[in-house]
Amino acid sequence: MDYKNYIEIVQNYPKEGIVFKDITPLMNDGDAYKAAINDIVKYAMDKEVDIVVGPEARGFIIGCPVSYALGIGFAPVRKEGKLPREVIKVDYGLEYGKDILTIHKDAIKPGQRVLITDDLLATGGTIEATIKLVEELGGIVAGCAFIIELSYLKGMDKLKDYDVFTLMSY
Ligand code: 5GP
Repeated sequence: MDYKNYIEIVQNYPKEGIVFKDITPLMNDGDAYKAAINDIVKYAMDKEVDIVVGPEARGFIIGCPVSYALGIGFAPVRKEGKLPREVIKVDYGLEYGKDILTIHKDAIKPGQRVLITDDLLATGGTIEATIKLVEELGGIVAGCAFIIELSYLKGMDKLKDYDVFTLMSY
């Protein structure tokens, strides 16, 4: 399937000068969404993954169906103040801005193998922060899966030590 047919390119969103890749048409199409999730499930199959972790909000759109298909759990990574119990946190830089990400302290048990999912890899700041949270809890990053990589933003440079899967690259 040519997944690029399901991505809308939006100029100057959310800020002047940003070329946004909108994945909602892919999610809107049952066959395309299912095929994309199945490709990530296939990638994860031989990695002996114990749990899927995804940053809000689009990491949930990818990670939750993957965890359901694998029959394993999902742990959300959220912006500060959004998780109700004790968390650990990390500062991170975005393609457009800065923020804090958190995860529940008991979300991952030491030694668990983790698949990290998000819709898109841009500068790599979000995934790097998510990896920090996972590793601080003693999780082992078994792989990282994205729908899209923006290769010109060089996020892959931050993931040299990790196994990475992407469905398409711009
Ligand atoms: P990074 O931290 O790698 O710079 O940015 C990736 C994060 O920002 C992801 O969580 C992703 O959802 C969001 N993001 C940045 N640019 C885009 C984009 O063009 N399209 C989409 N769908 N998400 C983006």
